[in-house]
Amino acid sequence: MALNCIKIQHKKFTENCKTKRYPVPEKVSIPMSQHMGVPCEPLVSVGDEVKVGQRIGDSDAFMSTPVHSSVSGNVVEIENFLSSNGRVCKSIVIECDGKQTVSEDVKPPVITDKLSFINAVRESGCCGLGGAGFPTHIKLKYDENKTPVDSLVINAAECEPYITSDYREMMENPDDVLNGIKTIQNILNIEKVYICIEKNKPKAIELLNNMSLNDDAINIVKLSSLYPQGAEKVIAYNATGRTVREGELPLNQGVIVMNVSTVGFLNRYFKTGMPLTRRRITIDGDAVKSPCNVKVPIGTSVAELLRFADCEEDKVSKVLAGGLMMGMCIYDLNTPIVKTNNAILALKSDKKRIQTNCIRCGRCIKACPAGLMPTELEKAYNQRDAERLKLLRVNLCMNCGSCSYVCPAKRNLAETNQLAKIFVTDNN
Ligand code: SF4
Ligand code: SF4
Repeated sequence: MALNCIKIQHKKFTENCKTKRYPVPEKVSIPMSQHMGVPCEPLVSVGDEVKVGQRIGDSDAFMSTPVHSSVSGNVVEIENFLSSNGRVCKSIVIECDGKQTVSEDVKPPVITDKLSFINAVRESGCCGLGGAGFPTHIKLKYDENKTPVDSLVINAAECEPYITSDYREMMENPDDVLNGIKTIQNILNIEKVYICIEKNKPKAIELLNNMSLNDDAINIVKLSSLYPQGAEKVIAYNATGRTVREGELPLNQGVIVMNVSTVGFLNRYFKTGMPLTRRRITIDGDAVKSPCNVKVPIGTSVAELLRFADCEEDKVSKVLAGGLMMGMCIYDLNTPIVKTNNAILALKSDKKRIQTNCIRCGRCIKACPAGLMPTELEKAYNQRDAERLKLLRVNLCMNCGSCSYVCPAKRNLAETNQLAKIFVTDNN
């Protein structure tokens, strides 16, 4: 049985915008927490000189990944940074010298076996570039005797409106995408690969299909243009027909899901040794006069990017990091670009959502890919009933926003679920 998905407008206005290279900014602020897991500790101090690709933060914790400098210059401050998820971490402020001198440590890794491969992936600073930020080396470090994996699913759905950064990765760097996939497949001995692309990207489907015609292990899966095709459990099911059950990871079903930009980046790292220091960002929204895709040094401020894309600042009512459906509002435009960003949207009109009473139409239930009952979750949260929220499986909510999108009464269902999840955790 297919998982519920909804139709939304694509608004892929930047799909034909080739990636521009952003000039070196005057200053960057590089947070020590850009991934899921434990933040890094700074490895540099105020006054230190740093180079591009130099490791400037790391942690001994299992669930972490190092942070590298995206510029050359001098460390001028180590500040506290409040991220959009409410957590505070250290952030290294670097005044750029404009020379972009590359660190001597930047060398292609020597990969001979699985261990050296996993170590290289860790050293690259890579985390899931689709937005979740799960450290990539942890995802690939499974024990094949306990959890055999036979399927690698490449998430190239990019189902969020506006965002085209994964699409540009496929169109501009198809060799990196396919070679990255082959390296991962060969080292981990994975039998089948599914590259999953929504049908609204026919050129990418054709390109990757033609380039992989002679490889029987690679299957191009054409997904219907529906939301949220890119959600991990949804794409794992649509590619392999396997259901990732409550409490499970795709790994438990023999599946690894990786974002298409992640595999493209990894191939470039294997070739050059340059860690994750830049991100391709789609800048769009109705307040942006020159929508574009741009490769940006990590740590560049959102305000600078918006100026680069001729944003009409006086008309902006909301700026989102990420897409229209799952993006987070940015409260401070000095917020730096981090590894997990793929889009910045500046929107003019935040038409007032006037909530009315629930009319019991059931649309939110029909729309939910996790099979939840958002209207009941809302009631349980309003009654602060943690037991009922658990019974209704609020923990399975993937924050896709579909329920809020379809609700004719304009109930803030997805937002309520976020609060409900925190409430349940706090009352456990
Ligand atoms: S936000 Fe949560 S409850 Fe709403 S549709 Fe998505 S998964 Fe279901
Ligand atoms: S979609 Fe909105 S109005 Fe319809 S049942 Fe759900 S909460 Fe109620």
